[in-house]
Amino acid sequence: MKLVIATNNLNKLKEIRALMPKHIQLLSLNNIGCFEDIPETKDTIEGNAIEKAAYIKNKYGYNCFSDDTGLEVEALHGAPGVYSARYAGEQRDAYDNNEKLLNELALESNRKAQFKTVICLQIDNEMHLFEGICKGEITTKKHGDKGFGYDPVFKPTGYNITFAEMDLALKNRIGHRGKAISKLITFLNT
Ligand code: IMP
Repeated sequence: MKLVIATNNLNKLKEIRALMPKHIQLLSLNNIGCFEDIPETKDTIEGNAIEKAAYIKNKYGYNCFSDDTGLEVEALHGAPGVYSARYAGEQRDAYDNNEKLLNELALESNRKAQFKTVICLQIDNEMHLFEGICKGEITTKKHGDKGFGYDPVFKPTGYNITFAEMDLALKNRIGHRGKAISKLITFLNT
């Protein structure tokens, strides 16, 4: 079965391809000739996931799924949340975002945070949502050079290393996106 993932983010594609069952041919937006920016105008993670998947399904006709992720920091009342990509500005720069987050939390002892991923699957005429949460804390400085985004400052509960110090296989097993993808895969297999 052909299934489009509504992203051209190579890191995400790599993470998700590693998890997909063999009978699914995963196509990126580039693979279907879509080179435009997909609208993400909603103010919730769920809303953006639904908007992206519906846009592709309606305009290009493919069964598809989108994922939207945010980092929710308890001491910041859930920020950056849906604005995680552009936390430090429209340049959407991971270095700037991490610097801003570490500065905001410089004097904060409550460092609890969670990543939340929502996947929206648009298949035939149905829509399904799958959620994955990974709890952890924000470190006081960056550690590691693997992964992307906030990985260098996020230490998942039960581990003494950040996502950026972890092998992809372990991150996929315990991480937010991996959990949401497993729910998606269970659904696609049944
Ligand atoms: P997106 O909407 O799913 O692209 O994610 C929004 C932003 O959250 C990204 O630009 C990254 O900064 C951050 N993000 C998403 N997933 C991860 C992750 O697995 N690790 C670290 N940061 C992430």
